Amino acid sequence: MRRHIETLPTIACLLVLGGCVAAPSGEVPASSLEREATAAPVAQAAPPTTEPRDPSRTWIVLLGTGTPGAEPDRFGPATAIVAGGTAYLIDAGPGVVRRAAAGAIVSGLPALRPQNLRMAFFTHLHSDHTIGYPDLILSPWVLGRTAPLQAFGPPGLDAMTTALLEAYREDIRVRVEGPEQLRRDLLAVETREIEPGLIYEDPVMRVEAFAVPHGTWDQAFGFKLTTADRTIVISGDTGPFDGMADIASGADVLIHEAYGAEGLRLRDPGIQRYHGTFHTSAIKVGEIAAEAEVGMVILTHQLHLAGETPDEMVDQVRLSFDGEVVYGRDLDIF
Ligand SMILES: [Zn+2]
Ligand SMILES: [Zn+2]
Repeated sequence: MRRHIETLPTIACLLVLGGCVAAPSGEVPASSLEREATAAPVAQAAPPTTEPRDPSRTWIVLLGTGTPGAEPDRFGPATAIVAGGTAYLIDAGPGVVRRAAAGAIVSGLPALRPQNLRMAFFTHLHSDHTIGYPDLILSPWVLGRTAPLQAFGPPGLDAMTTALLEAYREDIRVRVEGPEQLRRDLLAVETREIEPGLIYEDPVMRVEAFAVPHGTWDQAFGFKLTTADRTIVISGDTGPFDGMADIASGADVLIHEAYGAEGLRLRDPGIQRYHGTFHTSAIKVGEIAAEAEVGMVILTHQLHLAGETPDEMVDQVRLSFDGEVVYGRDLDIF
């Protein structure tokens, strides 16, 4: 299996570049956003140095590997699986659209350009996974998306979507009725509240949902995505879940959340109770990966509860799993 990770020059550089790619070609009148992007200093912006990825393959782009913690270098939880010219987004944490714009640059995959984002699958409705949802609904629409967003997720997604559209009612009215003349019909989000099982299928992608135990949430899901060349299992946020090994059996890639096991032991009982039922230790991830015999583990949504280093967390996975283990970072590409 080939693996491709790029190192970014600087975040600031990418955000400037992100403003450039976000502007659709001739579809939208120059907005104040675009004028600001044009006026921004660009002298330091280095061009991307990577070759565009082969669009016939399936790619994983980590858009955000963070947690509720407001870490400057880790945006909110969001992962893009890109196949057949479409970006299938898993979750939409804070900054998802700008991270997708950056991902389009570093990967050379046009599916990640903001105006092309049109598929989202939510593992659960925790705020760190959904704060980017209004961004995903509105920003690509403003930037020229030509089809409604399709969103899949647990019960509650319909109500959240309706409430968000209502919250932005005046913004939408001004953009539709004012000089921008945006099409209201392209803003109609097509939602589907899901149950475990096959939830989506098209000629290149098959998405299956499975229930995971995420503390006191009634409904939380992980996803198994299958294309012609890859099988990818994404844990979502989950407490320790033995069933994950069966679900991920033989998968090419297991993208799993994790906390540092040693750190949890140093925390007070309340914290231990919370993380012990809402999340999974890196040691447990290793046991799952070994039993499932997956090709590769990517850690995401990493919780450092007592200052463990990334290497220490990877070592905890390796206690049981002798395959490839990567500590995922924003905008890594696999
Ligand atoms: Zn989370
Ligand atoms: Zn959660």
